[in-house]
Amino acid sequence: MSKYKAVIGLEMHCELKSNAKVFSSARNSYSEIANSNVVAVDMAFPGTLPVVNVECVRKALMMSMVLNCKQPEYMYFDRKNYYYPDLPKGYQITQMHDPVGVDGHITIECDGYDKEVLIHDIHLEEDAASLDHLYDVSLIDYNRAGVPLLELVTEPCLNSAEEAVAFLETMRRIYQYCDVSEADTKKGQIRCDVNVSIMDSDAKELGTKVEIKNINSFGNVYDAIIYEINRQSELKDAGRYNEVVQETRRFDEESGTTIHMRSKVDAIDYKYFVEPNLPKYKITQSWLEEIRKSIPTLPRERKNKYITEFGLSEYDANIIVKEKDYADYFEECVSLGMDAKTAANWLTVQIIAYLSKHDLTLKEFYLKPRFLKELIDEQVKGTISSKQAKEIFYKSLEDNKEPKSYISKDMAQITDRGELEKIITTILNNNQAQITEYKNGKTNLFDYFVGQVMKETRGKANPVITKEILKDKLDN
Ligand code: ADP
Ligand code: MG
Repeated sequence: MSKYKAVIGLEMHCELKSNAKVFSSARNSYSEIANSNVVAVDMAFPGTLPVVNVECVRKALMMSMVLNCKQPEYMYFDRKNYYYPDLPKGYQITQMHDPVGVDGHITIECDGYDKEVLIHDIHLEEDAASLDHLYDVSLIDYNRAGVPLLELVTEPCLNSAEEAVAFLETMRRIYQYCDVSEADTKKGQIRCDVNVSIMDSDAKELGTKVEIKNINSFGNVYDAIIYEINRQSELKDAGRYNEVVQETRRFDEESGTTIHMRSKVDAIDYKYFVEPNLPKYKITQSWLEEIRKSIPTLPRERKNKYITEFGLSEYDANIIVKEKDYADYFEECVSLGMDAKTAANWLTVQIIAYLSKHDLTLKEFYLKPRFLKELIDEQVKGTISSKQAKEIFYKSLEDNKEPKSYISKDMAQITDRGELEKIITTILNNNQAQITEYKNGKTNLFDYFVGQVMKETRGKANPVITKEILKDKLDN
């Protein structure tokens, strides 16, 4: 624990899901084959012109609303000029003057408390191509050139690595729930720049910030922040705070440290100006209203509903809203009439464990909610025991066959009181010695009698009724 207050601001880039790229008609989908999703615009051939993909603008505006930002009156873009081999045009089309959202805020849940995160702005832009540096050559893959990116910039208002990761995790889920992005960090769809500074807890002004560029996993964001807070604190402790300078660093995964890349003095002047190839157009109120209406229920609201309406524990509700697929599955179970707690229990225990063991997603999971319901219904009716229900669950997944096909008459529990009485009477008649012992105080023999009934019925006697009858006969 550092004695200083840490201050963190994030710049989160997220690739949007869309049919086409943001300014060209090339497909926007990940491909292993380099340069397979490319049209002339993406390679900046002379004479080609960009066209705005309205689907991307719509998704960007939706996120602006979810973050409680102000939306602009007009939609237009800016040119950010710089030269780099992954940027064939010599500029990136982005938004600087009037982004899709400014001055927002969102409440996130950290470990046991809520935190309001202030959003500086959110803007729509295009991604650059990707470079593959080999031993003596570098290859360019234009598949990523022109992929829609949404960049979200927070105010410097986060105060720990935990809060930073909680924010990113919250946003990742929101992107998925709104179907705005797959937001898969493993596919590099989320990348972050992390700004870190420290200050005395009673100081009025923020300290000098260091920017760590292009971190591609939340684990690395966490480690980079911890490392940077320690590095800056140690310098400050040693009276060398002047050595903390405005600079850009990168996170080195191998050593778990941050390494100097360039100082602010080398900062590039991007010579921003309004992108002349994309006409400015008015965003109508009716379109904004339509987008607002289409915002789905977000994880936080869903979680509250699960707790207050369905009586789930906070713990279970948290697990279920973690992935949209889980939440959708759960809600389908409930809408089919399954008991909410039973459904939650199957999902959070058996199903999630099964998915992780077999490295599957819920979409690929064979037992759809209606199958699970069939199974649970049989258990509720008493046709099968809870142990049998679990066995059938696994068998059915193994063979991709409906649970129904494993449920036979033979499995049915014996719930008929008369039939059970007959069996129990025979057993008691054959165990006179044990009855005497029981009556003389050896009450734990009760389980022995239950065991005898189970043995006789090969486990099919309904345990509740069996115990009732036994108690009645032995105690009276
Ligand atoms: P720059 O001019 O270097 O681009 P900005 O003020 O635009 O800096 O902020 C960029 C990012 O850095 C934002 O996410 C912001 O929250 C964060 N930031 C700004 N100042 C600080 C600071 N003192 N400590 C930590 N983060 C900061
Ligand atoms: Mg930026």
